[in-house]
Amino acid sequence: MLAWGEEEMEKQVVDKARRAFNTGRSRVLQYRVDQLRALLRLIRERQADISAALTQDLHRSVFNTPLLELIGLENEIKLAVRELSDWTRPQHVQKSLITLTNDVFIKAEPLGVVLIIGAWNYPWSLTLGPLIGAIAAGNAAVVKPSELSKTSASLIKELLPQYLDQEMYHVVTGGVPETQELLKQRFDHVFYTGSSTVGKLVMEAAARHLTPVTLELGGKSPCYVDQNCDLAVACRRITWGKFSNCGQTCIAPDYILCNTSIQNRLIEEIRQTLQEFYGENPESSPDYGRIINQNHFERVLALMEGCSVAVGGESDKSQCYIAPTVLKDVLPHARIMQEEIFGPVLPIVTVNDVNEAIRFINEREKPLALYVFSSDKKVIKRMLGETSSGGVVVNDVMIHYTVSSLPFGGVGNSGMGMYHGKHTFDQLSHKRACLITSLGMESLNNARYPPQTESRLQKARFFMLNRLCSCAHLTGALAIISTVLALGLLITLLVVLLKGW
Ligand code: NAD
Repeated sequence: MLAWGEEEMEKQVVDKARRAFNTGRSRVLQYRVDQLRALLRLIRERQADISAALTQDLHRSVFNTPLLELIGLENEIKLAVRELSDWTRPQHVQKSLITLTNDVFIKAEPLGVVLIIGAWNYPWSLTLGPLIGAIAAGNAAVVKPSELSKTSASLIKELLPQYLDQEMYHVVTGGVPETQELLKQRFDHVFYTGSSTVGKLVMEAAARHLTPVTLELGGKSPCYVDQNCDLAVACRRITWGKFSNCGQTCIAPDYILCNTSIQNRLIEEIRQTLQEFYGENPESSPDYGRIINQNHFERVLALMEGCSVAVGGESDKSQCYIAPTVLKDVLPHARIMQEEIFGPVLPIVTVNDVNEAIRFINEREKPLALYVFSSDKKVIKRMLGETSSGGVVVNDVMIHYTVSSLPFGGVGNSGMGMYHGKHTFDQLSHKRACLITSLGMESLNNARYPPQTESRLQKARFFMLNRLCSCAHLTGALAIISTVLALGLLITLLVVLLKGW
């Protein structure tokens, strides 16, 4: 429960953000560019502090901080700064005959105050990533980092006001009660990253104000490994994706589907790769992370119960350490196959062929990501054509996240809405339909005014039905007409000259 004073505080934060938004200053492009550049300065100047916070929260190494979070954020900011004037330019669209002389376009406008609720596994990129889009789109924002990555959350609260407009952008820290209180307030968009269970609560709370939501959720992302592929390379890539950040990545391959004949080879390749990446004892490797807290530690260990461990399996509760673990011959109904693992445990489920793999995937909730390793074009084509997921990568894992031009997000149980690059800008903008006409040509409009007659209806039909022309068509037509006229003029001139000669 929150004290009355705290409840009031959260309302005041939202009111303050709205007042700042209502001044109109975030509508000015230069203001948005300045704020984005300030955010870039924060990331560059405070990298050491951010890195230390992540070591504290997740045992992240100093190299993994830029690699897994900050480079991506820099990239997103630079892209937004470079492209903003283009993204905000009115987009002229096709017209009907009746609107031919009008100005018809789509204009992206800010929504208002956006609430950004982040998860703990990538505490910087999951809060600042959406914030970049919110700033670019001209919104005010309230950022609520996860209470579980508490050092990062405190640092975000400390640093953001030092670099950004303090009235426009706010940080609220705290846990479930604070988030629930925030969700009672009226926002113009809620951007949530976290579990599907809480996603439903967020959507329910937002519905009370008819507030639209983006839900970046999770789920079990399958990884199908076909016999026909370079297993050594496949296993290197899978091992990197699964065990980075100690398996706490929403798009990590959750489990492997493969034919029984290659299961043992996969296990051997993964074992060797783990040794190469983290040495004999991963617990002492600076590159191997930890589980966020003891609750999650116990949750992950409980999921493994009853399974056959092929690699790893060791753990140390005092350190929240779980060794990189591979489980073999896992049955579809095993507990570990019922929920997202979100930890360094990789079950292998065997299937007879690609048909069974496709059936297995389609019988479950639509995943956030799907990975396919194969050199067989037919297998790849079938996997792409006969399954559904937020994103799909063939012969690698997770790298689609780094491509700003690709929309990132889930489908069905793995979420709704897309972001990254221009997609975040679009997600947090209202696409306003604009039509500007004049008060002339009133005779044309008679077709729609009463008293209605057959001839007026015919006229309306002529102007309104299926006669769409885009600017490009119009420009093309004008170019042809002017070329014909110019040619005519030239010929006339030549004839006159020749006659005179
Ligand atoms: P979490 O516990 O940090 O929760 C996320 C946010 O929700 C936090 O800010 C928390 O305060 C708030 N919250 C928690 N319970 C709440 C409640 N009852 N009411 C209101 N707010 C509440 O994170 P998590 O849920 O453990 O995150 C892990 C999940 O997030 C996984 O399923 C993972 O796949 C998913 N995830 C998805 C993405 C993505 O981009 N799609 C990224 C990271 C994580």
